[in-house]
Amino acid sequence: MPSMIEHYINHTHVSRDDRHQAVFNPATGEQSGQVALASRATVNEAVAAAKAAFERWSETPPIRRARILQRYLQLLQERKDDLARIITAEHGKVFTDAQGEVERGIDILEFACGIPHLLKGEFTDQVSRGMDNWTMRQPLGVVAGITPFNFPVMVPMWMYPIALAAGNTFVLKPSPTDPSASLFMADLLQEAGLPAGVFNVVQGDKEAVDALIEHPDVKALSFVGSTPIAQYIYETGARHGKRVQGLGGAKNHLVVMPDADIDKTIDALIGAAYGSAGERCMAISVAVLVGDVADKVVEALATRARDLRITDGRDLKAEMGPIVSRAALERITGYIGQGVESGAKLVVDGRGFRPAEAGLENGYWLGATLFDHVTPDMSIYREEIFGPVLACVRVADFGEAVRLINDHEFGNGVSCFTRDGNIAREFARRIEVGMVGINVPLPVPMAWHGFGGWKKSLFGDMHAYGTEGVRFYTKQKSIMQRWPESIEKGAEFAMPVAR
Ligand code: NAD
Repeated sequence: MPSMIEHYINHTHVSRDDRHQAVFNPATGEQSGQVALASRATVNEAVAAAKAAFERWSETPPIRRARILQRYLQLLQERKDDLARIITAEHGKVFTDAQGEVERGIDILEFACGIPHLLKGEFTDQVSRGMDNWTMRQPLGVVAGITPFNFPVMVPMWMYPIALAAGNTFVLKPSPTDPSASLFMADLLQEAGLPAGVFNVVQGDKEAVDALIEHPDVKALSFVGSTPIAQYIYETGARHGKRVQGLGGAKNHLVVMPDADIDKTIDALIGAAYGSAGERCMAISVAVLVGDVADKVVEALATRARDLRITDGRDLKAEMGPIVSRAALERITGYIGQGVESGAKLVVDGRGFRPAEAGLENGYWLGATLFDHVTPDMSIYREEIFGPVLACVRVADFGEAVRLINDHEFGNGVSCFTRDGNIAREFARRIEVGMVGINVPLPVPMAWHGFGGWKKSLFGDMHAYGTEGVRFYTKQKSIMQRWPESIEKGAEFAMPVAR
């Protein structure tokens, strides 16, 4: 009987639902557990726990909340490799990449520990005679996070450290594909001294998500996942009067200018296209080859793609692990077929790849795949494949590269490799994408800068984490105050003005 991955409500692991879903190790294809899928009643229980805990937690001074998070930070530092191992076991990404994911989550936690400073309000003395005006930011109440399979630690950590530090209570709905990391984090928060009900986890699928969207006590929803679901949650959440940030899918381009350092650009492209098997929302899936660089770039990429070491992510020499699930593998191989049918040149075909090691025969394997002569009308260019498939598009000049990218419906991340300062500056200013790298292939912003794409990559007004995250998880209140000594006698019927 596979072990049950449960919910976490009020400091207790619970599962009383009839529905379950199998959890697999993608490297072997073996079932490693089963995850409970929350009913509406279970979601209601988690929200009720979070609501009951809100008053006390929000009244706790921010510096005391931060101290609990600092203890959590310490525990996480001690146990971070255990957490990385859990990620690799259910997601399949290589262990060193999983370690990097945990580190990037820790960055946000460190940022959240500075919450007393981040919550400071603004004060104006003497807005009228004897009257002052100030603003302060207060927590929203119960907030929920709905997260994707591809970063089971880092993406929840874009959300809950800041939400909790700001005085909210939290319900996390992780992906049912790799749910175990959520419980490890919950247990560690409890060990750090977080009171019961402040952080809860409901495992589940659409039923749990819909229950969170419709629940009147959930004040805000943070979502990260694919674009259709981001849009659905944004629209439905708004109809239910909620604050929503919905981060969606991507198709990230890397422009190679003729003056770029080609060897370093190839390194960057190989890592950014095939790292984590391309299952990153900031993965590079399109190489835009400008002018006469195309032939030499494609040739070098092909050699490197064929030589990638692809095996079980627990192997410390692995550069790429398996695809997360059989369904994802079928979707990606379907796209490769479409690419061939639409006339793109398949330079390296990853279909049929199997690692040599014993025990991995039933895993979800795909080799690095490379297309050349891809054009903007093809589905492999327009749509998010979310796998180790890199499409090369050839363009004549910088202007054509910029137009190509700006015409794409996604606008998450983008990169330009060049030695020309003016090209770099023009690129950063003219490109219609939320996160830009200049000679940086994966420009994932640091904890204090905030993360968010443009166009169909983000629904809502505020980016994740950073000061935008603090604003998202708090509401502003303005206070005007005077004392009887400065109140003039008599009723005022005209709009009050400064005196
Ligand atoms: P997904 O959209 O399938 O699932 C995300 C979450 O939504 C999960 O918790 C899932 O259980 C839930 N969900 C799925 N279908 C639902 C439905 N019909 N109704 C309500 N909830 C539903 O995404 P995924 O496959 O887990 O993750 C990959 C996607 O996430 C890619 O598109 C990737 O680009 C995107 N992503 C985006 C960012 C970003 O910051 N923009 C970051 C990471 C991942």
